[in-house]
Amino acid sequence: MDFSLSEEQTQLKEAAIGFARKELADDLSVREKKGEFYWEGWRKCAGFGLLGMPAPARYGGLEMDPLSCVLTLEGLGYGCRDHGLLFALNSQLWTCIKPILSFGNDEQKEKYLPSLIRGEKVGGHAMTEPDAGSDAFSMRCRARKKGDRYVLNGTKMFITNAPIADLLLIFAVTDPDKGFGGISGFIVEKGFPGFSVGRPLELMGLKTCPLGEVILQDCEVPEENRLGREGAGTAIFNAEMEWERGCLFAAHLGAMQRTLEETIRYAREREQFGQPIAKNQAIAHKIADMAVRIELSRLILYKVAWMKGNGQRAPLESAIAKLFVSESYVQNSLEALQIHGAYGYSAEYDLERHVRDSLAGRIYSGTSEIQRNIISSFLDL
Ligand SMILES: Cc1cc2nc3c(=O)[nH]c(=O)nc-3n(C[C@H](O)[C@H](O)[C@H](O)COP(=O)(O)OP(=O)(O)OC[C@H]3O[C@@H](n4cnc5c(N)ncnc54)[C@H](O)[C@@H]3O)c2cc1C
Repeated sequence: MDFSLSEEQTQLKEAAIGFARKELADDLSVREKKGEFYWEGWRKCAGFGLLGMPAPARYGGLEMDPLSCVLTLEGLGYGCRDHGLLFALNSQLWTCIKPILSFGNDEQKEKYLPSLIRGEKVGGHAMTEPDAGSDAFSMRCRARKKGDRYVLNGTKMFITNAPIADLLLIFAVTDPDKGFGGISGFIVEKGFPGFSVGRPLELMGLKTCPLGEVILQDCEVPEENRLGREGAGTAIFNAEMEWERGCLFAAHLGAMQRTLEETIRYAREREQFGQPIAKNQAIAHKIADMAVRIELSRLILYKVAWMKGNGQRAPLESAIAKLFVSESYVQNSLEALQIHGAYGYSAEYDLERHVRDSLAGRIYSGTSEIQRNIISSFLDL
């Protein structure tokens, strides 16, 4: 087993760190207070190629393998403090661009991918409903075939990027009698009749990422905008979750690494009772545990990327990665805040933002409880 990275892979990560530090270093605290999306940063990220990492060159992509994508996102998470921007970017990449790449026909790819990859268009995906969260497949949203179009009715909730989205991949029931096999995915443009977005929802964290409700009232979607065959929605959703769980969380890994380094620096410099606080075993052990979580997060994320790069399915491994990395990010953020004392609790430092932002990771992409359900379903209990 070879754990070493190639020089090119190491450089990709370094390049992403350098890019983020130089180009994505505006005054985040001002935008965060206003809940403002970082449009300039978004365009710079697109210019750097981030939205096209796994896509073929013919659509403007960089044709990067999954491990290279993960390394780049890790570097980005290390260098960029605007986790809302990174979340918006990852949502577009793994839950809109990637499913169109994997399941779209040539016309759909030609029509939608280049502008999404250039960052001119914003996308996302809409599964969750007011009464269907973890039990997503109990959705009520219906798509009825009418001639050469589908008519969609329903409400989608907590949809990342919805307030700024040009298009969303929306899941709806096409055949209620078929259960999991009766759900289909549709590429819905914001200009389609009957499509509207409610007011942006205010969140505890990720404040720079717009998120909202989507209302479909006799929304007319041309048949050619169905993604994959009728009834393929569940397979599309499961496939995109595997990618998201395996790749998005690399940004958290980068953020954890930066926090660890800042915490070590602080613990060495901050003196109480005549010595650096790092000299207390209680503090050193917390920092050791932070480092352990980071190392294990890195191993599982790289493993999932390696599996995906070898064309393997990784439903179990991506659930383990999602669970472990998201919980580790919360734990490490709390420990870092504690080690920084009142300074950590102060909004002058990044740590309270990490705590707020990290908590979302336990919920989106399937909650921690749901990941445990997935993992236990593989254990023959
Ligand atoms: C920041 C953010 C961004 C999001 N972006 C999107 C998006 O772009 N598109 C989209 O479709 N959705 C999105 N979501 C919604 C997200 O997918 C759901 O919030 C998530 O699936 C959980 O659903 P819920 O919030 O309705 O909680 P519920 O399903 O109501 O769960 C409530 C609690 O019960 C637990 N629970 C439920 N069922 C079980 C069970 N069987 N066993 C054990 N525990 C259980 C849950 O783990 C949770 O703790 C986003 C959410 C957040 C927070």
